[in-house]
Amino acid sequence: MNELFLKELTGLLGEDAVRREEPMALHTTFRIGGPAQVYAVPPDADRFRQAAVLCRERGVPFYIVGKGSNLLVSDEGVRGVILSTENAEKASVDGTRMTAEAGISLAKLARLAKQASLTGLEFAAGIPGSLGGAVTMNAGAYGGEMKDVLTGATVLASDGTVHRLSVEELDLGYRTSRIQTGGLIVLEAELRLREGDPEAVQARMDELAYQRRSKQPLEYPSAGSMFKRPAGYFAGKLIDDAGLRGFAVGGAQVSEKHCGFVVNRGGATARDVLTLCDEVSRTVYEKFGVRLEREVRYLDRI
Ligand SMILES: Cc1cc2nc3c(=O)[nH]c(=O)nc-3n(C[C@H](O)[C@H](O)[C@H](O)COP(=O)(O)OP(=O)(O)OC[C@H]3O[C@@H](n4cnc5c(N)ncnc54)[C@H](O)[C@@H]3O)c2cc1C
Repeated sequence: MNELFLKELTGLLGEDAVRREEPMALHTTFRIGGPAQVYAVPPDADRFRQAAVLCRERGVPFYIVGKGSNLLVSDEGVRGVILSTENAEKASVDGTRMTAEAGISLAKLARLAKQASLTGLEFAAGIPGSLGGAVTMNAGAYGGEMKDVLTGATVLASDGTVHRLSVEELDLGYRTSRIQTGGLIVLEAELRLREGDPEAVQARMDELAYQRRSKQPLEYPSAGSMFKRPAGYFAGKLIDDAGLRGFAVGGAQVSEKHCGFVVNRGGATARDVLTLCDEVSRTVYEKFGVRLEREVRYLDRI
């Protein structure tokens, strides 16, 4: 990456917003990952968009990170620019419609919905991701998914143009979307909720938070469910039935509390996690003939 580009980037975003050789372990919920050559945190949504366009125009590889809660970054780190949506978090409510920038956390968005007496987003309150990440992954939990509440999103295409896509055009499927397959970037998303009683909304969020705390190993760093749910099965149950509860490689372990989670018990490397996943997939396939597919995205090059 040449110095001229870095000058342009810091000119656009400010010195403090551009860090070199930033450990990605600081920016992923797994607490794993080597350095990003450049880690940039644009101060607002507009400069986030401009930074992405600048990278594309200059041919500099870049990758978007929201809350890093579905991401495993290689131990060697990545060359190129990581662009964080962290400061793109404005949101507004108009009747039953909400519009929000990509970096807002789902927890904050769910709180805003409650304050506006809107129901429908309770399922997402405990998912530790950003709105942009949730659209990209079509995040879901407890019978709800982003597809149910989204009406559309404003996206940046690879040619630098901005488009509004309807929910149908987003092509949301089980943990997939056109954002992933089409190389798009979510700038903003719109949701339609329903009028509700804030107390009932809070009660439902509390109940789901309790279920998460009691069933999930939230006391250890992880990226949530490691594998997608294979059709007709539950990954956690297959892993448990294969005798792999607590199975560990280095600092990575199949959670003893919830076998669908791989947790970082301290000092886990990305290599530990990948080796563990390969071993788990191999054993489950041998025992049950079911192929497990990783849900967590692995980033080793941009
Ligand atoms: C404890 C725990 C519990 C979890 N529970 C759930 C759950 O119940 N349901 C569920 O679905 N998931 C769950 N997850 C996984 C994760 O929180 C979701 O997938 C979430 O939507 C990811 O959002 P993020 O902002 O962290 O995305 P990141 O991890 O930062 O990124 C994930 C992918 O999305 C891309 N991306 C992020 N933002 C954008 C953007 N603006 N435009 C384009 N691409 C973008 C990234 O490039 C990357 O490929 C859990 C994770 C943890 C750690």
